[in-house]
Amino acid sequence: MHRLIVPVLVCLAVQFVSASATIALDFRTVPWRTVYVYPVNQQRGIYDAVIHAFAVVNTGDESVTLDTIEIEALKDRTVVQTWSVPLLHLERTTKAAAALYAEGGLEDAESTFHTRRLAGSTTTPANTSVLVTQSYMLGRSRYLVFPQKPDILRLTAHGTSLSGVPVSATETVNVEIYRLKNAYTLPVAGRVMMSGGADAHVNHRWSQAAEFALDFDALGDNTSRYSDAGRTVSEYEIYGRDVLASADGTVVEIVANHDEADELLREPDEEMAAYIRRISVWNRDMASRNIAALCGNRVVIDHGQDEFSLSCHLKQNSVRVAMGDSVRQGQVIGQVGKSGNASVPHLHFQLSDGPGQFNSRSLPVTFTNIRADWGGNLNGKYLLGGQIVEAKPPKQ
Ligand SMILES: [Zn+2]
Repeated sequence: MHRLIVPVLVCLAVQFVSASATIALDFRTVPWRTVYVYPVNQQRGIYDAVIHAFAVVNTGDESVTLDTIEIEALKDRTVVQTWSVPLLHLERTTKAAAALYAEGGLEDAESTFHTRRLAGSTTTPANTSVLVTQSYMLGRSRYLVFPQKPDILRLTAHGTSLSGVPVSATETVNVEIYRLKNAYTLPVAGRVMMSGGADAHVNHRWSQAAEFALDFDALGDNTSRYSDAGRTVSEYEIYGRDVLASADGTVVEIVANHDEADELLREPDEEMAAYIRRISVWNRDMASRNIAALCGNRVVIDHGQDEFSLSCHLKQNSVRVAMGDSVRQGQVIGQVGKSGNASVPHLHFQLSDGPGQFNSRSLPVTFTNIRADWGGNLNGKYLLGGQIVEAKPPKQ
């Protein structure tokens, strides 16, 4: 956080007295300090990053009209790319956030907009780009692609105070490729299909807490994910598959008894748009009541050095470990299921920098024992949606 304060003299002509006032804007971001990139094309060194949310807060005594917001990428202290953020985007985002917070479900709203973290609880949302004192405007989901990875992002708001004084605020964020502290192996047994990688096509990517999560599914002999009509969870190829500890560690959270209602599976004659609407309403309702329930049955393992793995949507009563257990890499910890926010059975696996599912940061993860179905070596490679992969057989 960096603030720029311009002291000014406010003249109260009628009373012929003056008082010093401050004109001050603050620029705050999520993520803060560091943003981790993900490869768009690993071979060519093209990366992307998401600034999940940001706020411009008027912390001074005088109203400020926002003029422009810009994001610059710097490499070797030279600006190499620039983006401008339309003020209309901030107006819409600020209104949408205020509406969601007013609906209740603070955790749900906070995981989307981060308003409390960015602006605190004593400030108010601004209706226009004129920020009265202690008000803020929000932006979110700024997706940036870098043909060459920069070192730093610099985000700047420029404005003009009521008395005509130019004012600006800047925040800088380091741009880094995350280096894993531990070595991880595939968290599910057998040949699997990546139904979700960590690229921008997948919803995970647009939330800091789940940004680099991976979804594992499987295809049967008929290249379908399920046999028959897919109306019950047990018809799905991946259902009941063993979930494995991806590295040694200590179990720090388990949930095992959520049910796996078939009601979220798509009806045979249900239009896709109607199905997506039905699922969205159900998810929002669940998130506003208990956001942790989205993960369903789960195991969280502390692998040390601020790396925690989270396996979600496990089969009811399949969890094979207990709180505090030490687990070994490759040990069976549960089975793939469909509990929580899962429209079909699959394993949602992610690495995070803390044990809390919604208040920690998701980290990019690669594996050390993995190959593509055509035999290609994917050790240390970032997985993409649609890939079919499996663990290499252990050396004899
Ligand atoms: Zn997922």
